[in-house]
Amino acid sequence: MKIRIDMTGMRFGRLIGICFAHKSRSGHAHWLFQCDCGTELVAAGGNVRSGRTASCGCLHREICAARLTQHGHRAQHRHDATYRAWQRMKTENEAGVISPAWSDDYARFLADM
Ligand SMILES: [Zn+2]
Repeated sequence: MKIRIDMTGMRFGRLIGICFAHKSRSGHAHWLFQCDCGTELVAAGGNVRSGRTASCGCLHREICAARLTQHGHRAQHRHDATYRAWQRMKTENEAGVISPAWSDDYARFLADM
């Protein structure tokens, strides 16, 4: 039996080892980690040590969001009146009155205006 590497308290990317979780059927040790965003997740220790798993998934989401911002309207229209109106509409749209396409696509909203 291989000696298990103790990952408790160790930081890998955004993850900090909390405790050993379980051993998978293939024999890989899984650990409970806490991400910097507060999410707890269980991941294979090997993946975390190699950097394949560096967050609960929020890192990936942020990279995607950053890419969208670069090519989309978000950055230059952040203080734009139309953008603010769209944001207000989004928050006020709990009843689902406006078109869902508008609520998640600012470019589409602009085009339709
Ligand atoms: Zn996270």
